[in-house]
Amino acid sequence: MKTGMVSCVNHPDREAVVKCRRCGRNFCSACVEKVGNYWYCFDCLKEIAREAKAVKHGRLTITLAVGALLSVLLGFVLLWTNQSVFMTLAMWMQSGSVQNEVAEGLLRVALPAAIGAFCYILLAVGMLANKAWAFPFGLLLNAFLLIWKAYEIMHGEIGSTHEIILLVGGPTAIILSLMMNRRLLVE
Ligand SMILES: [Zn+2]
Ligand SMILES: [Zn+2]
Repeated sequence: MKTGMVSCVNHPDREAVVKCRRCGRNFCSACVEKVGNYWYCFDCLKEIAREAKAVKHGRLTITLAVGALLSVLLGFVLLWTNQSVFMTLAMWMQSGSVQNEVAEGLLRVALPAAIGAFCYILLAVGMLANKAWAFPFGLLLNAFLLIWKAYEIMHGEIGSTHEIILLVGGPTAIILSLMMNRRLLVE
C-alpha cells in the first residue's frame, strides 16, 4: 500500500478513485455507478431508489385528484340516473321477497348501475393510491361509458342537457386526467 493513498471503503487494499456524490465516502471504480453526470455508491443508489418510490407513491397531482373526484361523482350519478336501484331495494325491503318483475328490473337496470357505481368508486381509490391497474382500468371503463352514452344520445334516450354534460364530459375529463398522470400511475 502506498503511503497517503486513500483506500476504498469496501476494499482497503484498493485505491479510491471516486467520491460518492451523496454520502461523500471514497470508493474504487468497482464500487460506484455513474448516474447522469455523477457517481454514486451502491448503498446510496439503493437509498435513492427507495426514496423515489416513496415520493412517487405519495404523489397526488391536482389533475389526478380532480379525476378521482369526478369518478366518485360519476359513480353516484350512475346510481341516481337509474333510480330503479333504490326502488328495487325499497320494494325488496317492504315485501321481504323478490317478485318476478322486481327481479327482472334488478337484473336489467339496477345491477348494471350498481356495478358501474362500484367500478367508478374503485377507480377513484386506484387513482388516489397511484395503482398501475388504475390506468388501463380507467381508460376501458370510461371508453365503455362514452360509447354507451353516445349510443343512447343517438337514439334519443337521454333527455336532459345536464345529464349529457355529466355522462359525456365526466368520462372525457377522467380519461384526460389518466393520460396526464400516466407516468405517475404506470411506472
Ligand atoms: Zn454513497
Ligand atoms: Zn471498492
